[in-house]
Amino acid sequence: MSAVVQSIDVNPADEPEQTDGFNLIIDALKLNDLNTIYGVPGIPITDFGRMAQAAGIRVLSFRHEQNAGYAASIAGFLTRKPGICLTVSAPGFLNGLTALAHATTNCFPMILISGSSEREIVDLQQGDYEEMDQLAIAKPLCKAAFRVLHAADIGIGLARAIRAAVSGRPGGVYLDLPAKLFGQVMDAEAGRRSLVKVIDAAPAQIPAPDAVKRALAVLRSAKRPLIILGKGAAYAQADDAVRSLIEKSGIPFLPMSMAKGLLPDTHPQCAGAARSTVLKDSDVVMLIGARLNWLLSHGKGKTWGEAAKKFIQIDIEPKEMDSNVEIVAPVVGDIGSCVAALLEGMDGNWTAPPSDWTGAVTRKREENVAKMAPRLMNNNSPMDYHGALGVLRTVIKERPDAILVNEGANTLDLARGIIDMYQPRKRLDVGTWGIMGIGMGYAIAAAIETGKPVLAVEGDSAFGFSGMEVETICRYKLPVCIVVFNNDGIYRGTDVNSAGSDPAPTVFVKGARYDKMIEAFGGVGVNATSPDELKRAVNAAMDSGQPTLINAVLDPAAGSESGRIGNLNPQSKLKKK
Ligand code: ADP
Ligand code: MG
Repeated sequence: MSAVVQSIDVNPADEPEQTDGFNLIIDALKLNDLNTIYGVPGIPITDFGRMAQAAGIRVLSFRHEQNAGYAASIAGFLTRKPGICLTVSAPGFLNGLTALAHATTNCFPMILISGSSEREIVDLQQGDYEEMDQLAIAKPLCKAAFRVLHAADIGIGLARAIRAAVSGRPGGVYLDLPAKLFGQVMDAEAGRRSLVKVIDAAPAQIPAPDAVKRALAVLRSAKRPLIILGKGAAYAQADDAVRSLIEKSGIPFLPMSMAKGLLPDTHPQCAGAARSTVLKDSDVVMLIGARLNWLLSHGKGKTWGEAAKKFIQIDIEPKEMDSNVEIVAPVVGDIGSCVAALLEGMDGNWTAPPSDWTGAVTRKREENVAKMAPRLMNNNSPMDYHGALGVLRTVIKERPDAILVNEGANTLDLARGIIDMYQPRKRLDVGTWGIMGIGMGYAIAAAIETGKPVLAVEGDSAFGFSGMEVETICRYKLPVCIVVFNNDGIYRGTDVNSAGSDPAPTVFVKGARYDKMIEAFGGVGVNATSPDELKRAVNAAMDSGQPTLINAVLDPAAGSESGRIGNLNPQSKLKKK
C-alpha cells in the first residue's frame, strides 16, 4: 500500500507528490519494525487506525484503553521492542496512563501514543473538545514525554520515543500527537527523508572490568552464596549466558515471579521451594535484574535473618545501587554483557560453593516439595486452591511452551508457588505493583506476540477488571483459556454485613457463572466443580485453541485475607464486631 497522497484535481505530472501526518506516522512505525498497535479507536485517531491496518500494521481494538495499555506493556517485555498503545484524547489518554505508569515501574518498554486537542486552545484553556494538557500530565508517569507539532518532525519524534523506551532501563514513553498534525500535508520526498530508522536502539552497556573483578572476589569469598534472578534477567534475553553462569557457579538460584522458567523450576539448583531458608541463611547474594524492593523485603529485616550479608547487584541502572541496603559490588551494565564478563572471569578459576550449603538447600527443597505433593492431588468439590492448581500445574508441565498469565490474591500467591515453569518469559503476572487488571490485556498480547496458547489463571475479582475483553479474545479468535477461580468474592466469599442488607464489601454474587460471559460472544464456556472436570476442560481448550472461559467453583472459605501479603493490609484493633 502506497503511503503517498495524490491530489485529485491536478495532473499528477505537474504536482509534486505529497504525504501527510497520517501516512508519515505509519511509515515511521513500519520503518522501525513496529507492526502491532494495541488501542481503542475514536476522535482523532479513528482514520489513523483504519489506514494503519490497510498499510499492513496489525491493529488490535480493545474495549478499554487500560487493557490495551497493559497489552502494549507486556508486548514490550516479550519482544524488547516498545509496545505501542494508541488512545483518543483526554479520557482515553487517562485510561491508558495506568498502563504507562505500570510499564515504567516494571521497566517494560512501551509508547503511549495519544491524540490530543489543539495547543492554541488548550493553552488558553478555551474549552476544546476533550481539552487537557496531556503532555504535562503524562510526564511524571513515564521515562520521557514528547509532542510533535509538525509533520516534518514525526520521524524524529518517534525515534526519540523508541530510544527513550528501550535504552538503559526500559520504561514507558508518552508521545502526544495533536489532531491537526494528522492532516498536515508535506512534500512526499522531504517526508521520506525526515523519517529515522533507529540504529542500535538499546546499545550494549559493558561493565567496567574492575567492577567484574570485585564482584567475583566477593562471590568467591562466600560460604553460602545465592543468586536471585529478576524479571530484568528474563527481559534481557540472555538466557544461555544466565544458564551457564548458574550451572558453572554451582550456586543455588531463586527466581522472582516473572523470572521463573529462565532455568526450569525443577532444575537441581533451583531454590524456589526453599525461599525462606536461602534468604535467611545466605551470606552473599548476587542480584541479577532484580530490585531490593518490597518484593524482597527491602533486603533487610526478619526475612533476611540475623547473619551479615553482602550484596552484589547486576543492573543497567546505576541509581538502583544502594537503594535499600549497601551494595558491596555493583556491576552496572546490560545483563548479557555483565554475565558474559563474569563467566569469562570464572573460567578455569572457580570452585563450587561448600557442599554443606548446597546440600542443606536441596534437602529443604525436597522436604517442602514432598509436603505439598499430596495436597495437590485432592479431588474435593467444591475445589480448594491446591486441588485446582495441582491440575493446572500438570497442564503447564505437559505444555511447557504455553504462556501462563496470573493475577488475583490467593490465586496469584498460590499459583506462583505451585505451578512450575520450564521456559523463559512464560509466566506473566501482576509485577512490581501487584496490580489487578493485567489479565486479559496480557493474555491477548501474549497470544498475538508469541502465537503460543495462553492459560490465564484469574481470581474472580481480578478478572472483573478486564473481563469485557473476552469479546476481544473471541473477535480475534485467540487461543486463550481463562480459568476464573470463583470463590464468590475478594479474598473469600464469606463476609457478612452485620449492620444492614447490603452485601459485605468483599463479596460478589453467590454462584456467579462467569462461563456464560464468553458464550455471549461465541466462545466456549464451562462450569467446573471438581479438579477432574477442570482438567478435562483446560486440556480440551489448550488442544483446540478455542477461546474458552472456565468457571472454576472454589470453596468460598478457601482463601485468606490479602493472600500472602496480609501484613501489608492494616486492620483496626478497635472495630466493633
Ligand atoms: P523483579 O520484580 O523480578 O525483582 P524488577 O523489575 O524489580 O524485577 O527489577 C528488574 C531490574 O532489571 C531493574 O532494576 C532494571 O533496571 C533491570 N534491567 C532491566 N533490563 C535490564 C537489562 N537488559 N540489563 C540489565 N538490567 C536490566
Ligand atoms: Mg475471589
